[in-house]
Amino acid sequence: MQTSCSCPCEESEVIVKNHPVIRFICHCKICQEVYRKPFADIVAVRSNQVIKPINPTIRFAKHRFPPAVNRGFCPSCNSPVVAFLPLAPAFGLSFIPAENFSKDYELPKPVLHSFYDRRVDDVDDNLPKFNGYWPSQWAVSSRFVSTILRLG
Ligand SMILES: [Zn+2]
Ligand SMILES: [Zn+2]
Repeated sequence: MQTSCSCPCEESEVIVKNHPVIRFICHCKICQEVYRKPFADIVAVRSNQVIKPINPTIRFAKHRFPPAVNRGFCPSCNSPVVAFLPLAPAFGLSFIPAENFSKDYELPKPVLHSFYDRRVDDVDDNLPKFNGYWPSQWAVSSRFVSTILRLG
């Protein structure tokens, strides 16, 4: 199974193989900046599930301190397309904006809020909320790995 995920202007896309692993809401300042929203609705997949286009125009940039997420943007609309976070050799996470999936694609529900201490607005839901850099990174990566192990 393959799904195309395109930016709002549809010039930049990646193809995702199989099912997304987890989805989460990130309130960090970098996401607020690059998504140009109070928070980012992010779908995480394994990096090897992402097929980059044959003719890549996606512009990559690293923002601030390690472990640096390598973020790819559309050169036309400047929206995020895909970001890579290497965790180990041959194993990494990729982040894709939930809104880049087609409307009829059945995405998993978000499982947590990360960097909630940097939020613009309070969120009234029952999801776990993590504050600060390491707790947020740990929450996302441990949920990611445990979901992979559960799915097999
Ligand atoms: Zn675009
Ligand atoms: Zn973030």
